[in-house]
Amino acid sequence: AKEFGIDDALQKLGIKDINEGTSTGSVNFGSGDIISSYSPVDGALIGKVKTTTASDFEKVMNSATSSFKTWRTTPAPQRGEIVRQFGDKLRELKEPLGKLVSYEMGKSYQEGLGEVQEMIDICDFAVGLSRQLHGLTMHSERPGHRMYEQYHPLGVVGIISAFNFPVAVWAWNTALAWVCGDVCIWKPSEKAPLCGIACQNIAATVFKANNLPEGISCLINGDYKVGELMTHDNRIPLVSATGSIRMGKIVAQAVASRLGKSLLELGGNNAIIVTPDADIKMTIIGAVFGAVGTAGQRCTSTRRLIVHESVYDTVKDALIKAYNQLRIGNPLDENNHVGPLIDTAAVTLYEKALKQVEEEGGKMIVEGGVLKGEGFESGCYVKPAIAEAKNDFGIVQHETFAPILYLLKYSGEVQNAIALQNGVVQGLSSAIMTNNLREAENFLSCAGSDCGIANVNIGTSGAEIGGAFGGEKETGGGRESGSDAWKIYMRRQTNTINYTTELPLAQGIKFDL
Ligand code: NAD
Repeated sequence: AKEFGIDDALQKLGIKDINEGTSTGSVNFGSGDIISSYSPVDGALIGKVKTTTASDFEKVMNSATSSFKTWRTTPAPQRGEIVRQFGDKLRELKEPLGKLVSYEMGKSYQEGLGEVQEMIDICDFAVGLSRQLHGLTMHSERPGHRMYEQYHPLGVVGIISAFNFPVAVWAWNTALAWVCGDVCIWKPSEKAPLCGIACQNIAATVFKANNLPEGISCLINGDYKVGELMTHDNRIPLVSATGSIRMGKIVAQAVASRLGKSLLELGGNNAIIVTPDADIKMTIIGAVFGAVGTAGQRCTSTRRLIVHESVYDTVKDALIKAYNQLRIGNPLDENNHVGPLIDTAAVTLYEKALKQVEEEGGKMIVEGGVLKGEGFESGCYVKPAIAEAKNDFGIVQHETFAPILYLLKYSGEVQNAIALQNGVVQGLSSAIMTNNLREAENFLSCAGSDCGIANVNIGTSGAEIGGAFGGEKETGGGRESGSDAWKIYMRRQTNTINYTTELPLAQGIKFDL
């Protein structure tokens, strides 16, 4: 870690005593059990963080609800100015934060920097949005009346995030929620708690410099039990939860039982369709990056490649060749393509999936395996694998968060490939590689891909913040980031104003006194 400047990065991010863990300010400081964060890169202890107890949570909640009163009446463009300053701080700290993301989560340094760039991008987007947040005006049926709608701040937003995007998911939510006038309580993944503390430190600096209350940005730490404090609390009108489908089903029920709103960003099972008219070179780059980038731990990772029989062998051979060139190792070393999985529990799930695909009749064309020896001491490094499989295998239907790609064959028309692509419970990201306009338009039509994201001639991963991000079916239906995703962070109100001296009723109803 030393040679890659981790100590220096931690210091720049305000994580000073790495063995005790740290946090700014009283409201964010937990008094519960300690979580130790180990790096999957080299297995070393990075730091310890105190978790949040129920009574700590009460303090955080009080701080958040009282801060909301100040924040909701701060004009939206002024809130945007705070988010602009927050974005500038992220620009200053991009390298140390990107490095911590890489070291604590295990993605490549380049992807760590990319994740911080996404935070900066959403801040820029949110600043522009802070001068908009517009409703509509409509015409009243009654004379001398005016109708319009407006969007008001919602309140305390709870954010529960997954380990694989340990900083960006929070920023997608919080930058929008802040300009919308909400305050946020964030529970980061217990697998990347120091990333949470680093972000909280950055936000706290900005709020403090502007004499704004600390409770606008709150951090709580711990596992699912701490998350449940938020999902069951009716002082939190919106819970935004990113993670597994299993988690989403529990969170959705808890929040719905108190008629709160939830924004769910859950697992994917993303496919690229490769038609006879595909550009094979582009296909291989898109598929390999999609399958092995972040060691297959993106919600948008490519898990299935659905290839037309006429180009199947060409694609298969090119994939095997590309996989032979992959360098696996320390993700902070820019020469490597593939870093570690998050922890040894994830390695066990990877091994189980490889076993299962063979048991179900799949054939490995690029063998997997766990790497041992120098440089792999953490036990978290695995070989990206490819199996020839069938779409209805149990394991193919399931999202394994690891670099395993399933190669599926289709014949006939593109509709047959679309049926396979849609034939899973998840509906996040999808792509088609084709130079044939008819195929592309079929894929994008109402009878085409059923996913929240459908791409032509690019892979399944690597979305930009300008579009709304999220998926259908068991992916949860939520949308974050760009377009009009901001609306879920606000409450909508319809207003009718009568500027006459009469009181006509709607629908012509007569009520004379
Ligand atoms: P996970 O479901 O194990 O945990 C996610 C978060 O939920 C953690 O903070 C965890 O503590 C919390 N949690 C778990 N159970 C909870 C409960 N009952 N109540 C409240 N909180 C609870 O997921 P993970 O392993 O961290 O992340 C990987 C998963 O996340 C994958 O399925 C991936 O596809 C998904 N993901 C989806 C998106 C998306 O935008 N669709 C983005 C990133 C990750």
